[in-house]
Amino acid sequence: VSYEIEFTDRIRVELVASLASDDSVVAAARVSTKGIGSLDELSQGRAEGTGLINYLMKHRHGTPFEHNYFTFFVHAPIFVFREWHRHRVGWSFNEESGRYKQLEPLFYIPGPSRNLVQHGKPGDYSFEPGTEEQFERMVQRKAASCAVAYSAYLDDLEDGIAREVARMHLPVNIYSSMYATCNARSIMSFLSLRQQHPEDEALFPSSPMAEINYAADVIEEAFAAEMPITYDAYVRHQRVSP
Ligand SMILES: Cc1cc2nc3c(=O)[nH]c(=O)nc-3n(C[C@H](O)[C@H](O)[C@H](O)COP(=O)(O)OP(=O)(O)OC[C@H]3O[C@@H](n4cnc5c(N)ncnc54)[C@H](O)[C@@H]3O)c2cc1C
Repeated sequence: VSYEIEFTDRIRVELVASLASDDSVVAAARVSTKGIGSLDELSQGRAEGTGLINYLMKHRHGTPFEHNYFTFFVHAPIFVFREWHRHRVGWSFNEESGRYKQLEPLFYIPGPSRNLVQHGKPGDYSFEPGTEEQFERMVQRKAASCAVAYSAYLDDLEDGIAREVARMHLPVNIYSSMYATCNARSIMSFLSLRQQHPEDEALFPSSPMAEINYAADVIEEAFAAEMPITYDAYVRHQRVSP
């Protein structure tokens, strides 16, 4: 069987659908005091200038931020999915199957701008660039081991072995695809853990892996565009998820 093995450092995260507005946050909060009258809050522009969203964020009243959804298409290596799927609350996932389809020979290898060397101890690492030589050797080793693994995968398939067994050769830098849907509260929880910000910007600074941090940056952009007042309040209150 002829095939071309591919290596990339591209991670794709794309907003493919959403139903989200700052007004829905205000309406959901106001129903407690206005009942049916809260429907008026859903008309465009009512969230502006109320200060209510800031109040909710500051006091961590989180449920009004749940009446919306964002759907992302994600194409990324499996080790990114493993971290992503740890976020249990408010996320729905559907992922490509290694049992039902043959996996493409596409593998992630970090690009030259990704930090390669870690210093410190668990929970307190810093990452720095490696030397050019370290980078070249790392790329060569990964390319070689992925080629061996994928070739063994195909040999198994040709030998009549089931896809779910053949895939056991494959490393976690092979690509997968998924749809991931969540609400703004889950987004804030995700961003608070999967983005790195200094102490003056984040009350609880995190030190996420570069690849999921990249994905979180794209999600942040979509969130800021769809719910700008909520996003501003999240940033102002030092990126604490309500
Ligand atoms: C820098 C970093 C390093 C990490 N290192 C490791 C590691 O070494 N090993 C490892 O296993 N994981 C690790 N993780 C993953 C981490 O433990 C969480 O699984 C992940 O960040 C998801 O967070 P979460 O549970 O808050 O999210 P979600 O599952 O989406 O939960 C959101 C919130 O809901 C509430 N909640 C959810 N489930 C429960 C529950 N069962 N009981 C009570 N409240 C609940 C909590 O308030 C929680 O914060 C790491 C994460 C980060 C960001």
